[in-house]
Amino acid sequence: MGYLLLAINEEFLSYQGEGEMAGTRMYFVRTQGCDVGCHFCDTKFTWKPEDQTVSEKSIVKRARASGAEWVCITGGEPLLQNLVNLIDKLYKANLFVMIETSGVEWSDLVKRFHFVCCSPKDLFTTKDYKLDEHFLTYANEMKCVVTKDSDIDFYLKLLEGYGGIKTFQPVDNNPAIVKIIANRNLPDWHCRIQQQKFMEVR
Ligand code: SF4
Repeated sequence: MGYLLLAINEEFLSYQGEGEMAGTRMYFVRTQGCDVGCHFCDTKFTWKPEDQTVSEKSIVKRARASGAEWVCITGGEPLLQNLVNLIDKLYKANLFVMIETSGVEWSDLVKRFHFVCCSPKDLFTTKDYKLDEHFLTYANEMKCVVTKDSDIDFYLKLLEGYGGIKTFQPVDNNPAIVKIIANRNLPDWHCRIQQQKFMEVR
């Protein structure tokens, strides 16, 4: 099968700053397009569905040249696009691949990633999106943005029975939200900030 073109906003080499994989050197591939509409979104520049298109072949070439062992497919919402060929080529290049998704779109392709980080946005979307329940089985980590105390109650209910890694992420690295999370004293939940905003890397 030949190479397709994907809508890509940017690619860069950095450290993963969020969630369980924080600190891991990764080549980031940021897809274009997301209409979930979270007010705190720090990648609003990806929302418009159109942008330049990039060949899968060139993405794989740059990912290999970066020297990173991991590739992170992020967005925007990566699952709006057909990533099948890209994943095939990255695996043939012996790279590990993770995805960051809001979980509003399901594809069986999700089962093939080495690590799946899902960040449910049911509380924040301006549309009628909900977490697709497949992610309760196939996500390695649920990374849950907290903006206020009652958000925590929502996540506890949403993720009842979920057996993966559960992470609270205080919105905007807000120390007051960290205190709210700490006061709940939930031993099976992590609290992780967005480290990249302190490391001053992308
Ligand atoms: S799902 Fe992610 S990319 Fe989309 S609006 Fe929300 S925070 Fe931004």
